[in-house]
Amino acid sequence: MAKLRFEALQTLLNRKYDIPTEKATKISDYYGENVFHDRAMQQYLSKDIYKRLQACMNNGKTLERDLADEVASGMKAWAMSKNVTHYTHWFQPLTGRTAEKHDAFFSPTGGGESFEEFGGSQLVQQEPDASSFPNGGLRNTFEARGYTAWDPSSPAFIIGDTLCIPTVFVAYTGEALDYKAPLLKALFALNEAAVPVAQYFDRNVTRVIATLGWEQEYFLVDDALFRARPDLVMTGRTVFGHSSSRGQQLDDHYFGSIPERASVFMRDFEKESHKLGIPIKTRHNEVAPNQFECAPIFEEANLAVDHNQLLMDMMEKVAHRHGLRVLLHEKPYAGINGSGKHNNWSLSTDTGVNLLSPGNTPKTNIRFLTFFINTIKAVHDHADLLRASIASAGNDHRLGANEAPPAIISVFIGSQLTQVLNDLEKKVKDKGMSPDEKTEVKLNIGRIPEILLDNTDRNRTSPFAFTGNKFEMRAVGSQANCAAPMIVMNSIMANQLKLFKNDVDSLIKKGKKKDEAILTVLRKYVMESRNILFEGNGYGDEWVKEAARRGLSNIKTTPHCLDVYLRKESVKLFTDLDVMSPQELEARTEIYQENYKMKIQIESRVMGDLCMNHIIPAAITYQNKVIETFKNLKEVYAGSDLKRLAAPHDKIIKEISERIAAVQELVHEMIQERKKANVLEEERDAAMWYCEKVIPFMTDIRYQVDKLELVVEDDLWPLPKYREMLFSR
Ligand code: ADP
Ligand code: MG
Repeated sequence: MAKLRFEALQTLLNRKYDIPTEKATKISDYYGENVFHDRAMQQYLSKDIYKRLQACMNNGKTLERDLADEVASGMKAWAMSKNVTHYTHWFQPLTGRTAEKHDAFFSPTGGGESFEEFGGSQLVQQEPDASSFPNGGLRNTFEARGYTAWDPSSPAFIIGDTLCIPTVFVAYTGEALDYKAPLLKALFALNEAAVPVAQYFDRNVTRVIATLGWEQEYFLVDDALFRARPDLVMTGRTVFGHSSSRGQQLDDHYFGSIPERASVFMRDFEKESHKLGIPIKTRHNEVAPNQFECAPIFEEANLAVDHNQLLMDMMEKVAHRHGLRVLLHEKPYAGINGSGKHNNWSLSTDTGVNLLSPGNTPKTNIRFLTFFINTIKAVHDHADLLRASIASAGNDHRLGANEAPPAIISVFIGSQLTQVLNDLEKKVKDKGMSPDEKTEVKLNIGRIPEILLDNTDRNRTSPFAFTGNKFEMRAVGSQANCAAPMIVMNSIMANQLKLFKNDVDSLIKKGKKKDEAILTVLRKYVMESRNILFEGNGYGDEWVKEAARRGLSNIKTTPHCLDVYLRKESVKLFTDLDVMSPQELEARTEIYQENYKMKIQIESRVMGDLCMNHIIPAAITYQNKVIETFKNLKEVYAGSDLKRLAAPHDKIIKEISERIAAVQELVHEMIQERKKANVLEEERDAAMWYCEKVIPFMTDIRYQVDKLELVVEDDLWPLPKYREMLFSR
């Protein structure tokens, strides 16, 4: 048997893992112990400093220098009490994951003496050599400086011997080079726009925050099998692999009992997460074999984004200890469910109200309808932008692939709320209403139940579904940084709420009462947004046709999606809100395009190499064996006997020959297309070329190789097979 695969399976057979026997300790005993949060702050900062810091954290104000020094000193004392020796600014460059550059606290003073140094300036700002991070032409190489700056709204934390300080990453000229900077700006814009609207209903509201509760899906695979798959190692997904005879047909994995080995791993990484203050709450099996999900309690969006990034890193680290690998790719296996990351999103006020939660009075329900309908209108008007925010090479495999929402953005709201919107449309009168009519409308609105029963029949096929007191974005990719969709979601909502405020105020100026003005505007929005509402099966082909009839977009691939960021209306939206400048948008889009191109390029190279070095040699070895037998048969039999008995061998030899020839030709042609792409100057053109000219070859090559897998003797097949990766525990 092919050596690597054989050894991997051997390792797997001999794998032993410990099931912890000691009693689990209470989570509250260690929850947040590695976070510089409230409790630690109060212990290590003076009352006055603590108060000033809190004020900065709540209002997003910049820290004065003396305050920074005091905070740094407290933070250092706390960290050193936990045996920390290094610190790093922790940031989220556009490469997708997180970056850190560690410096020691230690600082020599000459004469063999040293002291531990960490002052305000080290806390507030750092200059990583940023030239190797993607910048989309924002910095020339001779001015390749960027800096990281502390984000006090997300607490510092400890990993191993290092104090990590969440930061934004920007160019010296001020442009954002990361996800966090525009996210913070979007959240700021949202607050500015939402507070005045929330004040229509309650004067005491002074702050509105976006909340995010993500659900993370992932696959586990044994480390030895992972290493025996160069494609997994290099790209995070299998570029070859015939589906195993059993996949997920039996539907027996979802919510089934969690396999022991996976559960030991989960307990371990949850503990690490809890120490970091990530409020992981649920865990369960997902639909596909060896696929799982975990989800925390929701948090303020910026913190939730950081926590998700941290969790992904943590999972990978902890998996090593268990001889496992975490696959975060959107589509590690063809023909099997992919992985997503649902983003549950809502808005809440500093008066403790969830603005997307129906209440029990007409007033609270008009408030609910206001935020609910404005969300629908925002999504209706900027569906393409939302689609662009979740576009990635990996997610292209998943969206619309029969087990994930399609690339068409639509909104599901359930039958009860559909009825409410229908009533609103029918009963509210533009021209003004009689007192009786007003009472009827209010009565109807008052009847929206606090708990929407409809949520039991939640539509799982919708990319954007209302689930009782929040919207759930289901089309986000599993590897994605949630910040990307959160930047767009909060920006379009901020924009929409500003428009709404204008519309309502101008009616009030014309003499309409506030409630009536609000309802009149909402009614207009409902009518304008109708075509984005869809309650049916989002996975079906009929929906694709129906959506086309309605004029909804269905942008299937990433390079096409990315163009949306540079449309005039997108640029206007982000600049008006001061979330991103035109230069930032351009740079960002270029980085995304390059990123896409690189991903496909690597996959295509891995495919070529695997074909030439692994697949074809294995096929030839087997072919030779069969040819040998074929020759021997000739010696033993003659005439019609020979013809009949050697026919299978003949067939196998021919099939292998044909497929080898096809693979070789296709690989050659694919390389030619890559060469053409690689000389294109614009990243966009290159990305398009990869998408339209290279990927089709990859599909054809895969087809041939997966067929070869079915013919070639199992002992000779070099790559671990799907059944081995999906069903071994
Ligand atoms: P599902 O049935 O989709 O798996 P779960 O109940 O497991 O749903 O997950 C719901 C998710 O929604 C959790 O991550 C939870 O934290 C999040 N969530 C609940 N309320 C809110 C809210 N107001 N804002 C944001 N997220 C929320
Ligand atoms: Mg969900």
